[in-house]
Amino acid sequence: MNNVTTEQFEFKAEMKQLLHLIIHSLYTHPDVFLRELISNSSDALNKFRFERLTNPTVLNPDQELCIRITTDKETNTISIEDFGVGLTKEDLINKLGSVASSGTLEFLQNLKEQGKNLDNGDLIGQFGVGFYSVFMVTDEVTLDTKYYQEGSESYQWVSNGEGSYSIGTSEREVRGTKITFTLKEEFKNLVEDYKLKSIIEKYSNFVEFPIYVNDTQVNTVTALWQRSADSVTEEERNEFYKFLTHDYEDPIGYIHFAVEGVIECKSILFFPATAPTNFLREEDQKSVNLYSNKVLIQENCKELLPDYLRFIRGVVDTPDLPLNVSREITQSSPVMSKIKTILVGKILSLLEDWATNEPSKYEKFLKNFGQLFKLGINSDFTNKDRLTHLLRYESTRTEKGVLTSLKDYISRMDSDQNSIYYVSGDSRENLFNSPKLEYFKKQNIEVLLLTDPSDIFTVPYIFEYEGKKLESIEKAEIKQDDSKKSTDENSISEQQQQDVIAKFKSVLSDKVEDVVVSMRLVNSPATLVQGKDGMDTHTERLMKMMDKNFTGTKRVLEINTSHPLIKNISILLEDSSNEEFASKSIQHIYESCLLLEGMLNDPNEYFQRMSELLTKATTK
Ligand code: ADP
Repeated sequence: MNNVTTEQFEFKAEMKQLLHLIIHSLYTHPDVFLRELISNSSDALNKFRFERLTNPTVLNPDQELCIRITTDKETNTISIEDFGVGLTKEDLINKLGSVASSGTLEFLQNLKEQGKNLDNGDLIGQFGVGFYSVFMVTDEVTLDTKYYQEGSESYQWVSNGEGSYSIGTSEREVRGTKITFTLKEEFKNLVEDYKLKSIIEKYSNFVEFPIYVNDTQVNTVTALWQRSADSVTEEERNEFYKFLTHDYEDPIGYIHFAVEGVIECKSILFFPATAPTNFLREEDQKSVNLYSNKVLIQENCKELLPDYLRFIRGVVDTPDLPLNVSREITQSSPVMSKIKTILVGKILSLLEDWATNEPSKYEKFLKNFGQLFKLGINSDFTNKDRLTHLLRYESTRTEKGVLTSLKDYISRMDSDQNSIYYVSGDSRENLFNSPKLEYFKKQNIEVLLLTDPSDIFTVPYIFEYEGKKLESIEKAEIKQDDSKKSTDENSISEQQQQDVIAKFKSVLSDKVEDVVVSMRLVNSPATLVQGKDGMDTHTERLMKMMDKNFTGTKRVLEINTSHPLIKNISILLEDSSNEEFASKSIQHIYESCLLLEGMLNDPNEYFQRMSELLTKATTK
């Protein structure tokens, strides 16, 4: 090799730390390096196969698209060669020599602190550092590469994976990349063919290009989705899923189908058993791979599924897309939207089937993906009814953890009940003990208990289900009924009510929208409810969490004039010397309501006032 033109490069500081972490701490199975390198080669081959469709001047057009692994048992050396797109000099510096996404180092450090490793997840691939896992088994790597376009130079990249790397010229004549390294003493058994084959069968069996180990093909190259559903075994399908996603669990469900007619398409879609940790972060989201006649056109093609189903993984293959058009055109093609409609229909049908016939499986699905899935209510208007049928919530009539559908709720309603009631908050326990439920409990009216943050963005937008309005109990108008009238006999006189309300209003004038006599309270002295145009308490709290400057709307304080505390205040008001004591008590009642809602900002003042009031109450 011509050393004269060799240049030295330093890895950036962050990259150095990252390499140290990867090589020394994050993997427990060094053999995954093979998966990472093969997967890079497969990506490069896929890119080439795609480029070749539109570019007539590629290098070595007749060269087989494959991955060749060769070994030298004398020297314990392995090389992995592909005939993919190859790398330019800029690629070597910008793609191979640096971290793909910012925040990677921090993320991996946290992972290490939590004692986790990278073997099972799809993490290393996500961060664009998979290549470097090879440094677990070797001290130095040589990479020879030639970019696929005619006239490209060949380069040699050499590094020990610590501080620096060099780039020089290479004698490589064919398109693609060859990575060569000598195994460290403790990993020299990896040079054996049987060992390499077993690793490839475990991690890389479904790579779409032949993988040869010393001239013997190891993998079975079949596009599983092209076969008929009943010719594929469950084991094959699960293995394919794991290959595709790097998940270590089997999926909880799949759809494998072919449609012919106006649109032709073949597909296997998978429902993961658990949600990946970052699945709510849209930018990290993987999706479905789009093929045309077995040629990968787009990985993670987000346009194939609506956002609320973006956790579904798999493959869609259609011969109806023109291959030689730009990505933008692919995206806006009517073929895409037709396929999307077909996929959504199939997915919802499977979920409906689970919801009816395998409810525990369906609930497991909801637990994992419900937060995202339910948002379909706000975006997929075509399927809104189907989605609404699929909603499930806990309620005051279900045991903890048991879910009910809106349909079942309606079947339990009294004939004169016109609304489906709900309340939202952090936990079932808090909601269940809230004063707001007192009236509904007493009247034996079922209330849905919404504890998932996405519920407050969706439930209000259902508006109506089978002719019944959906209503927040904080907003619901409460009728004065007979049971209430009987308690009213304990209530204070009309005049006293007016006086006490006037006093509450004057003390809290800048804090509440209004003070009214409550129809919904039974055992508690007061509660805060939303005004006519306000948002419910839970929504407001979430808004505040998202936006520090969000001030919210003023609430209405409802007071229970049958409660001894309110009665006592009304008696206090008869003597003007009690003015201050009454005002403090009112202030305290208001803040206690805030405390219950999780909205009390200043516990110090609250505590001081409480001490003062208790001192007075306990003075003999
Ligand atoms: P990732 O593959 O997750 O992006 P890697 O560290 O494994 O991260 O690789 C970094 C980049 O180097 C790849 O994105 C790709 O652009 C390039 N690369 C790695 N291996 C090859 C290869 N065999 N052929 C062409 N490019 C490659």
